[in-house]
Amino acid sequence: MPLFGAHMSISGGLEYSIKRIKQVKGEALQFFSKNQRQWKIPKFTSKEIELFLNEYTKWGNYPLIIHTSYLLNLASPDKDLYQKSIQNLIAEFKIATLLNVSYIVTHPGSHRGKGIKLGISLLANAIIEAFEKVPEFKGILLVENTCGAGNLLGGNLEEFALLKEKLLDIKIGFCLDTAHLFGFGYDFRTSLTYQKLKQKIKNYLDLSNVKLWHLNDSLCDLGSKKDKHFHIGQGTIGLKAFSFIVQDKDFQNLPMIIETPKDKTLSSDKKNLQTLKQLAKQVRSK
Ligand SMILES: [Zn+2]
Repeated sequence: MPLFGAHMSISGGLEYSIKRIKQVKGEALQFFSKNQRQWKIPKFTSKEIELFLNEYTKWGNYPLIIHTSYLLNLASPDKDLYQKSIQNLIAEFKIATLLNVSYIVTHPGSHRGKGIKLGISLLANAIIEAFEKVPEFKGILLVENTCGAGNLLGGNLEEFALLKEKLLDIKIGFCLDTAHLFGFGYDFRTSLTYQKLKQKIKNYLDLSNVKLWHLNDSLCDLGSKKDKHFHIGQGTIGLKAFSFIVQDKDFQNLPMIIETPKDKTLSSDKKNLQTLKQLAKQVRSK
């Protein structure tokens, strides 16, 4: 069975993200190490780190994932923004090391009209620099697919094959987001279309490089290049598509994170996670 979890806020303190994931019985946790719309790099005190790690041990050794800030553009042709983005990624590598986080997820960025080739080169160099500057980070950087709006890289999965070629010695992984796949134009609502998508994942990413799924239903149409997450089974993607992924033997032990709309009591998260667990269980009775 996959490890189903959710993105949680660190509001109140880092350790509250773990209290929240425990509350919904999640088995994987993703969080922003800071306000995702600000550049400011947080300085955690040793006390804060200790509280987090204590809470983590109590919860269990489940996968931890940091999602980088939305402000980053690791493919930006603008030198200042590019440098700022790299410095921020380096900071996340350091934070992840302190907090025992194995995965950092980042979006590939936008080439801003300068072309996919240049964008991928810039992205690859940014990744190389981050690994060089923080050799103590032993986790994996995961690049997430996007809905491919405007000049966003990573809509077409073929671009990740180019990225892999540029990162010879560095082992990265990939995070696949269902709402982004669907928004870009990959259909996987029938067994046949799911198999076709999987073949593309195999060809361009290699199945073993998929380390994380973001499971989100969508409010946008197939190929709309739009991205609005919704509750599992209640959007344009539908329940059946999710059953293919969670029941797929190639993805059985992976963390799968929901980034669906939240309410104060986290009851929607609880419900979405239950839905996914039930879908995953169905395969056993087959
Ligand atoms: Zn996502």
